Amino acid sequence: MRVIVTGGAGFIGSAVIRAIISDTDFEVLNLDCLTYAGNPDSLASIAGNDRYHFSRTDIRDMSAVREAVEGFRPDLIMHLAAETHVDRSIDGPADFILTNVVGTANLLEAARAYWAGLDKDAKTRFRFHHVSTDEVFGSLGSEGQFSETTPYAPNSPYSASKAGSDHLARAWYETYGLPVVTSNCSNNYGPCQFPEKLIPLIILNALEGKKLPVYGTGENVRDWLHVEDHARALIAIATRGRPGETYCVGGNEERKNIDVVRTVCAILDELAPDSPHRPHSGLITFVTDRPGHDARYAIDASKIERELGWRPRESFESGIRKTVEWYLDNRSWWERVRAGAYRGERLGLAGAV
Ligand code: NAD
Repeated sequence: MRVIVTGGAGFIGSAVIRAIISDTDFEVLNLDCLTYAGNPDSLASIAGNDRYHFSRTDIRDMSAVREAVEGFRPDLIMHLAAETHVDRSIDGPADFILTNVVGTANLLEAARAYWAGLDKDAKTRFRFHHVSTDEVFGSLGSEGQFSETTPYAPNSPYSASKAGSDHLARAWYETYGLPVVTSNCSNNYGPCQFPEKLIPLIILNALEGKKLPVYGTGENVRDWLHVEDHARALIAIATRGRPGETYCVGGNEERKNIDVVRTVCAILDELAPDSPHRPHSGLITFVTDRPGHDARYAIDASKIERELGWRPRESFESGIRKTVEWYLDNRSWWERVRAGAYRGERLGLAGAV
């Protein structure tokens, strides 16, 4: 099987490629333009494997995307490339529209043109897997869960751009018959996550004795899934999911943000006993809330469990401990990232102070 993974130098894409190389015999082409969020260091463990290939391609560039798809001749495209940080989407939505909406349309069109030229069997086997988020469903109250039938109600420029891309993927299946499968997943955490996202930001700020910013009162609830569990779910959906279907993926591990931050602090107190910043929870600082901050996300993942036999292996407790350990053991990975364009500053206030 020949697989194109877009966004393979990102947090989840790199976990998917590491899993493909270790768990399958697939040949993989990573198609990524290496934005600030793309990091080839995250692929160092498999970069020398002869089943791994890289193409520096921007999905906003239609002719480059066509060339990459026609050149590699994939059986499967797993589309993860995106602008992904909600706070950045508040400061500058344009990049999100261009990459997430126009970029997805380019990829769907390149896939359709290539797919149309395949023989009957290859056409039937081909899959386009569109990877999306539960944020397209908006915000929940204290009860209930998102499922495959939840109506779309995105609230941020990020989630609106992802919702747009989900609708395009659906339309390419309904209109052209392109064998598309879509997944919507809850919040991921784990190794190699860019430290603007909550968990790595808290770990690194705590280690450096910086304030640990918690938006609002920290009551917002997210469902957390370890990235390697998500990678296994994505491979199952891409290879065994039914065309035209969507699959919700989640860890069934709802936590308030403030509880996540306190848990990380407690693990750091234990694993970094020489830290001059203990107890790390003393660094917690409540800051102005994100505009339009969704209150709660929760996922009913029973469809993927029932149809594809997928279940998460990590509990939040086991996964978060491993994640803190990973950041402690891989200083060079994040020191290089922190030395670059992003140093932990606050983003996404839309002009508020
Ligand atoms: P990330 O920001 O860590 O990585 C995104 C990758 O896409 C980077 O390698 C970047 O270089 C690449 N990219 C961005 N714009 C590009 C362009 N124009 N052309 C080519 N490559 C480009 O993101 P992530 O957290 O790994 O998320 C991957 C996918 O999973 C996204 O589609 C996201 O919406 C979805 N998702 C993420 C989460 C989460 O918790 N992180 C949860 C559910 C779904």
